[in-house]
Amino acid sequence: MRSIKIIGAGQAGSEAALYLADKGFKVQLFEMRPEKMTPAHSTGLAAELVCSNSLKSTRLDTPSGLLKEELRLLGSQLLPIAESCAVPAGHALAVDRGLFAETVTRLISEHPNIELVRTEISELPDEACILCTGPLTSDALTRALQNLLGEEQLYFFDAIAPIVAADSLDNAKVYNKGRYDKGGADYLNCAFTKEEYYAFVDALLQGEKHQAHEFESEFFRGVDFNYYENCTPVEELARRGIDTLRHGVMRPMGLERDGKKPFAVLQLRAENRDRTAFNLVGCQTMLRQPEQQRIFRLIPGLENAEFLRYGSIHRNSYLNAPKVLLPNLALKKARHVFVAGQLSGVEGYMECIATGLLTAKIMTEGIGMLPPETILGQLWRRLTDPDATNFQPVNANFGLLPALEYPPRDKKLKKEGLSRRSLDALQQYLGE
Ligand SMILES: Cc1cc2nc3c(=O)[nH]c(=O)nc-3n(C[C@H](O)[C@H](O)[C@H](O)COP(=O)(O)OP(=O)(O)OC[C@H]3O[C@@H](n4cnc5c(N)ncnc54)[C@H](O)[C@@H]3O)c2cc1C
Repeated sequence: MRSIKIIGAGQAGSEAALYLADKGFKVQLFEMRPEKMTPAHSTGLAAELVCSNSLKSTRLDTPSGLLKEELRLLGSQLLPIAESCAVPAGHALAVDRGLFAETVTRLISEHPNIELVRTEISELPDEACILCTGPLTSDALTRALQNLLGEEQLYFFDAIAPIVAADSLDNAKVYNKGRYDKGGADYLNCAFTKEEYYAFVDALLQGEKHQAHEFESEFFRGVDFNYYENCTPVEELARRGIDTLRHGVMRPMGLERDGKKPFAVLQLRAENRDRTAFNLVGCQTMLRQPEQQRIFRLIPGLENAEFLRYGSIHRNSYLNAPKVLLPNLALKKARHVFVAGQLSGVEGYMECIATGLLTAKIMTEGIGMLPPETILGQLWRRLTDPDATNFQPVNANFGLLPALEYPPRDKKLKKEGLSRRSLDALQQYLGE
């Protein structure tokens, strides 16, 4: 296979195209803009950043800093371009968005091995291809995917609950118990008194919400959240009645502590086997991030919670990856179609770039699963985890990584330790 089609010249598609072209593959890169725009893009440029111009932190004690260093080792093309377009932003890699997208577009257009074809693709190709049409995949292609995979395997928006670090919880307050003692090892619980519960509900009602993009408001108008299981924002549930939460997702039945039934209970579900990160069950939210910190820290046991990921709800087309993807990120029902970017179930600019690079390497170099200590290896595992239920998009966070055997007490040192272990493992893997 010396020629490859790539559909979508966003973050993932541009990374894959430049990487493969440099390796000598003939790439046809299909992009529907500017003829047909998405609701969020405003130019015809490749790798346009639709919202923030930040590719997040570069520090090794952050998950995005680690992901960048892993990408550097793996030969990312977009990372050095982004660095050459950087604007001052403390320890974050923020870019001049115009310059970044123009530079990527120029390198793609001038590359002798890339043909940039400006057209909308409405059917899946019959030849080897990478599909990376992003969170705003066009309607025609969405229908083609639905026909192939079944409507229930393609989601249209995220409803994400926050994830907190286990070592930031107050162990004197949270307790381990599954409802009616089922699945106990997987859950921690936060018990509310009456006063604590009503203070929390009150804060949810007052909390400042994220202003959805225009097209998102359009999208959410008429959406019946009940239709989508587990997707109603927690503040919307609170708005329906002050007792709605404690009769629903925060019901205390079966979660007695020392024989006593709390007034309400918020459950925390383990995000990984090492139980280093926990998801706030039912707390998908449209609250602004500082408000999430303030309000969720009112939950007993979460007073000093460290947020590994914030909750969000927004327009996003993504596949039920663990159900429809093979371990090599190709569709089970169309083994020549590899999927990357947001559509594959990752979240965030760098994560999209990372999966673009990953699929390119899987397709042409046949690389096997990356070491479990690496953050990209864990993102990959999440997308193809056969045991996954209720799949939600995943971003780089330290909660994905196995715990250190001897973690330093200092949190910064611990995070740096996780990063160094990952980079050592990746270097060794690549050396081998
Ligand atoms: C409104 C919004 C704001 C976001 N803000 C951020 C943020 O601030 N920070 C962050 O880290 N992440 C953000 N994300 C999430 C995500 O990281 C970005 O959307 C990212 O650009 C996705 O990369 P991608 O390569 O998967 O898709 P994209 O970068 O969107 O690229 C997909 C490309 O495919 C093209 N395309 C679609 N359908 C077809 C078709 N049928 N035929 C041909 N071409 C097609 C599109 O025009 C587009 O160019 C945001 C997402 C959205 C929707």
